[in-house]
Amino acid sequence: MKLLIASNNAHKIKEIKEIVGGFFDEVLSLKEAGVACEAEETGSTFEENARIKAEAVLNLTGCAALADDSGLMVDALFGAPGVHSARYAGEHGDDAANNALLMKNLEGVPAPRSAQFVSAVALARPDRPVLIVTGVCKGQVTQEPHGDNGFGYDPFFVPEGMTRTFAELSPDIKNAISHRSRALAQLRRQLEEEQ
Ligand code: IMP
Repeated sequence: MKLLIASNNAHKIKEIKEIVGGFFDEVLSLKEAGVACEAEETGSTFEENARIKAEAVLNLTGCAALADDSGLMVDALFGAPGVHSARYAGEHGDDAANNALLMKNLEGVPAPRSAQFVSAVALARPDRPVLIVTGVCKGQVTQEPHGDNGFGYDPFFVPEGMTRTFAELSPDIKNAISHRSRALAQLRRQLEEEQ
């Protein structure tokens, strides 16, 4: 079975291929497959949005499709930016503006500023129910940015049990503990059970 990954984020595509690629004959990003599919993320949860994106690609192509929807939930902000993480400051994917707004909204909030990254992953296949799994990585939001790796809110997030931000950790270490890798590990277990 061919799998299409409903994402344009190179980080996510690489991680997904590594973790669940072995269960499919061929794994392609939308770009590699020459498919254009921009589903509107109208859900109020990560799970709903992951399902919307995966089903849109399945319906368009007839191929199995995997989508991830992820974001940062900060306790002091009652779960914001949440499903709006990518466009928190207005423009989709403007990491600098999103981080600036996060710092502004957390002004005066003392440490520990507890938060969690969440990733929901949906796998939609022809003639089967959609599989949806969720992974969480707990941690704290810092006052200052540290590190140059990764993307998004990485420079401001220290995962539980660590002293460095995601942006200071190597990709291998981040991928071993990240919300997305935890969701994908669950998906892999479910696919193993099906075999
Ligand atoms: P999505 O591509 O719609 O799932 O948007 C996810 C958004 O959440 C990204 O644009 C980032 O702002 C944030 N995000 C999700 N995962 C991570 C991560 O691993 N590190 C940093 N930011 C992340």
